[in-house]
Amino acid sequence: MTKEQSPSLQELLAAERRARLAAEQLLETKHAELTRANRRLGLHARQLTDEIIQQRRQVREVRTEAEALKGQASQAQKDLERAHRQATVAERRLWDALETIQDGFAVFNRRDQLLIANRSYLSLFDGLDGIRPGITYGELLQLLLNEGVVDTGTEAAGAWHDAMLARWTGETIEPVVLRLWNDTYVKLMDRRGQDGDLVSLVLDITDTIRYERDIEDARQRAEAAARAKAAFLANMSHEIRTPMNGVVGMSELLIESDLDEEQRLYAETIKNSAEALLVIINDVLDYSKIEAEKLVLHPEPFDLERAIHEILVLLQSSAADKGIDLLVDYDMFLPTRFVADPGRIRQILTNLIGNAVKFTPAGHVLVRVTGYAEEGSPRFNLHVTVEDTGIGIAADKLELIFGEFSQVEDERNRQFEGTGLGLAITQQLVGMMGGEIWVDSVPGEGSCFGFQLSIDAVEPPLPQDFSLPERLRSAMVVDDLPINRMILEKQLSAMGLRVATYRSAGAALNDDPGRFDLVLFDNDMPEMDGLAFAERMRAKGSGSALILMTANPSHLAAQEQESRAIFAVVQKPLLRRDLHMKLRELAAAMQAAAAVAVLPPRQRMRILAAEDNKTNQLVFSKMLKQLDLDITFANDGIEAVEKFQSTRPHLVFMDISMPRMDGKEATRKIRGIEQAEGLERTPICALTAHAMDGDDQGILEAGLDFYLTKPLRRPEILERIRAHLPEGIEIEPTEPPLPAAVPAPRPAAAAAQPPPGDRAPHP
Ligand code: ADP
Repeated sequence: MTKEQSPSLQELLAAERRARLAAEQLLETKHAELTRANRRLGLHARQLTDEIIQQRRQVREVRTEAEALKGQASQAQKDLERAHRQATVAERRLWDALETIQDGFAVFNRRDQLLIANRSYLSLFDGLDGIRPGITYGELLQLLLNEGVVDTGTEAAGAWHDAMLARWTGETIEPVVLRLWNDTYVKLMDRRGQDGDLVSLVLDITDTIRYERDIEDARQRAEAAARAKAAFLANMSHEIRTPMNGVVGMSELLIESDLDEEQRLYAETIKNSAEALLVIINDVLDYSKIEAEKLVLHPEPFDLERAIHEILVLLQSSAADKGIDLLVDYDMFLPTRFVADPGRIRQILTNLIGNAVKFTPAGHVLVRVTGYAEEGSPRFNLHVTVEDTGIGIAADKLELIFGEFSQVEDERNRQFEGTGLGLAITQQLVGMMGGEIWVDSVPGEGSCFGFQLSIDAVEPPLPQDFSLPERLRSAMVVDDLPINRMILEKQLSAMGLRVATYRSAGAALNDDPGRFDLVLFDNDMPEMDGLAFAERMRAKGSGSALILMTANPSHLAAQEQESRAIFAVVQKPLLRRDLHMKLRELAAAMQAAAAVAVLPPRQRMRILAAEDNKTNQLVFSKMLKQLDLDITFANDGIEAVEKFQSTRPHLVFMDISMPRMDGKEATRKIRGIEQAEGLERTPICALTAHAMDGDDQGILEAGLDFYLTKPLRRPEILERIRAHLPEGIEIEPTEPPLPAAVPAPRPAAAAAQPPPGDRAPHP
């Protein structure tokens, strides 16, 4: 075998093996590729499957959603239909209702055009064709006028139309009543809504109007009847009064005639009964007169404070029987003269104060008057109150007591007499004067009745001059009643006095009452009465002026007053003007007393004694005590010159050795004054301690006329005095001493001190 020529089998086998290997490799490669492609295909297929599943799910969801929406839409449709049905029913019901009610109902739009109206509304227009939706309110009103539907009475048609239109444009539309052609009445009530629509209601009020008219007719008829009855009563009581006056007058005459005991008793009973009857008849007469409107007021000027005072004086005896204090607190700065019906004012006051006294078993009754000027006019707004500490009135009775014939019905009350007309009359009178009356009360504690009036003062309100002369500066008030202390303090302070108040004589005595210019004290005090107090004051040597207050001045013996040197006894309650007058009198008396002391009258010999030693002054004055001399002491030379100037003495006794300025120097000054003023030479007698040689020369040179040596002897002094007694002057006492009631003038320094117990000084 050749290897080169022909492929050997081996070679062929190898080639074939190689080819097979290559094929196998290729197959393997292809197989691997196939496997990869296969795997990719598988993945892709899975992906596709997933997407399909996903899409299917979405389709399913969308489908269910669509299903659900379809269901909802049909529900909404159903709801809408139901709502529509309901609305239709509601509207129908509303219209049924609106048509059923008798009142007219209409709605206008914002341009005032009629939108809808019920039948009643339309019937108001009596079937007028023009009244239909779209007509304006103005046209509607015009139609009412043109067709004579509305009766405008005295008002012109045009004015009515304008007024009705104007009414609609306002913020709030007031109801209006229209009278229609057939004498029926309708009331229009309109209201504008938020969107500008206007709802108009028309109510038929014919029945109400007719009813009111009937009532008014009945009231007028009843009043006329009442007036007629009252007029009859007024006439009757007037007629009864005339013979009653006869009964009273005649029984008075009868009592004055010669009667035995029994006859007198009968006659007095007749008189008392007749008088009681007269009081009742007068009440009835007044009441019926007011009711019949026949009572006329007669205003004229009168003094209110005096009227109150006079009423209190009249009631004083019944108050004193019960031990009640009657007090007045009249505003210091209020005028007293006003213009009103004085008789009726008295009647009002008498009723209120009389009741207060009647229903007060113990304590006090206080009348208080206050007020203020109304700006720019003589008018005053007056408040008068009457306070008592009496039985009081229960709250549920307070409103009733002003009614006629009304009295509080209880055991305590019925012990009091009365007609029960007093307060009814009082209220009517106050009302007629344009005022008001009221009451406050606490059962068991007291009542306070008050009324207010606006009336003219007679004079324009001048500032009242309540000032007092300088001489009166301080006052002590002694009264056990706090209110009275308060009132007096107020009044005295307003007069410019410094006031200290004390609630008892004992307290006052403890506080040196002599330091006051004036002591104003009550006589009726517990523990120590006024007279005893005055006695103790005088015993203490007090020189204060005393004014005693008492409800019963007549009960006081003149001698009791004199022995205590009481300046004045005044009646309680005290009028502020009377108090002021008394104080002016007192000040004048004090002034006179002071003038007597400072500038003695011609008929007393004036002696000036200059002496620094107090004991010597005392000895000097004791020596001359028996004589009616006016002696002034000077404590040194300077004072001697001053007092010479002020007293112009007839004779001077001059101590030579004195502090500040000696006697010689003082004498020289006095001589100088005499010369300068062209006065006569005043005899001056020197007083020296020891007469030494040469002394007399110096003394005489200084201008003294003669000298006496100490110790002084009475006869020598008397001799000097007699030797220089001016013509026509007596020194033996002839006049009584000054009344002790007027306090002697006190040294300025002492008087200027504020009194003890004093409060803040008043302007
Ligand atoms: P009368 O004539 O009975 O006093 P009034 O009209 O004056 O009639 O008073 C009516 C009633 O009011 C009295 O009866 C009394 O019950 C009561 N009243 C009036 N004032 C007072 C008062 N100050 N205190 C207590 N009660 C009073």
